[in-house]
Amino acid sequence: MKENTVYLTKNFENKYTYTGNDLGSVYSKDSTSFRVYAPTAESVILNLYEDGLQGEPYKIVKMEPAENGTYKTVVSGDLHKKYYTYTAKVNGKEREAVDPYAKAAGANGLRGMVVDLRATDPEGFAEEKRPEKINTTDAVIYELHIRDFSMDTSSGMKYKGKYKAFTEEGTVNGDNLKTGVEHIKELGVTHVHLLPSFDYGSVDETKLDVPQYNWGYDPVNYNVPEGSYSTDPFHGEVRIKEFKEMVQALHKSGLCVVMDVVYNHVFDAEEFCYQKIVPGYFFRMNGDTFSDASACGNETASNHLMVRKFMVDSLKYWAEEYHIDGFRFDLMAIHDITTMNEIRKALDEVDENILIYGEGWTAKESMLPKKERALKQYTYRMPGIAAFSDDIRDAVKGSVFEELEKGFVSGEKHLERLIQFGVTGAVGHSQLYRKNVSYKQKIPAPWAAAPSQCVNYTSCHDNYTLWDKLAISNQGKSQEELEAMNKLAIAIILTSQGIPFIHAGEEILRSKPDETKEYGYVEDSFNSSDEINSIKWDTKKEHLDIFSYYQGLIAFRKETKALRLRTKEEIEQYIKFLPIVPGLVSYVIKTEDEEVLIAYNAGKKEVTLELPKGSFGVYVNKIQAGTKILERAENHVVVAPVSAMVLKRN
Ligand code: CA
Repeated sequence: MKENTVYLTKNFENKYTYTGNDLGSVYSKDSTSFRVYAPTAESVILNLYEDGLQGEPYKIVKMEPAENGTYKTVVSGDLHKKYYTYTAKVNGKEREAVDPYAKAAGANGLRGMVVDLRATDPEGFAEEKRPEKINTTDAVIYELHIRDFSMDTSSGMKYKGKYKAFTEEGTVNGDNLKTGVEHIKELGVTHVHLLPSFDYGSVDETKLDVPQYNWGYDPVNYNVPEGSYSTDPFHGEVRIKEFKEMVQALHKSGLCVVMDVVYNHVFDAEEFCYQKIVPGYFFRMNGDTFSDASACGNETASNHLMVRKFMVDSLKYWAEEYHIDGFRFDLMAIHDITTMNEIRKALDEVDENILIYGEGWTAKESMLPKKERALKQYTYRMPGIAAFSDDIRDAVKGSVFEELEKGFVSGEKHLERLIQFGVTGAVGHSQLYRKNVSYKQKIPAPWAAAPSQCVNYTSCHDNYTLWDKLAISNQGKSQEELEAMNKLAIAIILTSQGIPFIHAGEEILRSKPDETKEYGYVEDSFNSSDEINSIKWDTKKEHLDIFSYYQGLIAFRKETKALRLRTKEEIEQYIKFLPIVPGLVSYVIKTEDEEVLIAYNAGKKEVTLELPKGSFGVYVNKIQAGTKILERAENHVVVAPVSAMVLKRN
């Protein structure tokens, strides 16, 4: 089924595409201008309020029809902290809506707020710098929910569940071990990826004394920070300042900030502002029904030019105003490839080091023709944009769709080639596609044009945590055996080519236990309690060896350029896979300056590997990982069962 709408006709596009940069409210001390895109409206009224929630408008202004289907007005005076809405009359029906371009809002985002953005800057924010530029494959991403970070009593943080928790320095748990930002720094990642932190709808900001929890994949105001993470959601300027303080604190710690953006659907399509102002325009419609590729009740229409512009404007705004360093696109394949490429271009103008990656799939069928979708298989058509590798994710530990399915690290057979494919960062390698190789497991065609287009991971907020998945699919195994699998899994992720991605808390065996569930753990904790979701910092001591292993692997990766190759050609030229033995993947990366030998042994028996001539240092073994040589090896080396081994010639 393909969209059939007047909004996609050339005639409509020619007449009603506004290209100016003054949509929304544009503040100055003397006056504020308002412009809204409402091509099908008979009239639009601006309502000005003193309060973000209560009371009648203190002023009503009829807006004038202006260029390309927009309505415009200018109101004199200093409107900083005044709240506002639009009332659009379409087909004889009047509906009041928040400004789609609102930069600030009152509680629950029902009214926009005019804001003097300069008054929201924390001290030094205008001059603050993003962390030093690194190459894309040098990034190590840490995916974190703002509330999970600080809610547990063991966090040692004062501002529980708030942006401000990120500004707290020197926080520790009861064992005096680092928590919070200090812990993230200690781990060594480069990017903190925050789950949705724009204004979303599933938490009532007026009832923050009642425990509420949601991941936040339900957008209301795309250009406003979420209110429940601020200390005061009733005053629009507070959340902006506190969000900026969070970014500033992370930057000060050398950490880049990635926002999880959910442009693919909204919380409530009928109540969404653009739906009230231009019915049917923001979404893909099947007649009167919302098409639903998101499985959340609707899908947005990035192929409609003013929706595309809305996304581009919004992303540029976050990058420029909040100094955001990267964006993760939820259900990216609901968006069209043209839009994603335009986003890359627009963000390049702000800073070409801004990361862009996303889920290269939809949740359900879309009305967008398949060849236009930003699917994983088309990643190579979107230079500078990466997709999550579900290939390596499921090969390492078993499918996320089959609870009991095992993966390579838990002894599943015939996954060696898929692991090899993962090692290449989805760019492929001639050794993998030779006609005479007859392995049972099929591998996908290369979908990345460069390793910088591939995000490698074993777990994220969705589905079971890595630990829980291993526990469920390997019943009867000891803690020690499961820990060995976990270590092998992360060793594969952190030594593969591409961009490694870690689910926050994975490094201290994060778990979401719940006895009422079939397998004893929560798979989809999007609205579970804090008790289930929060990071339990007091488990750090117990799992310090796992933490050190993650930390050591990251440090080794940072020190070893061969693990961070930048092109498909380098991967083809420098990597040589050694013959596959069931349960064993091993390869050499030999660049001009480095020679690294890597082995992943998922088998139950130790394996003896022949080494090239000369002396090698072992940096990673079953027990430890790091930048110090653990032992020296010549001629051959023994790889323990269920373990990774990494050696470097020196
Ligand atoms: Ca909200």
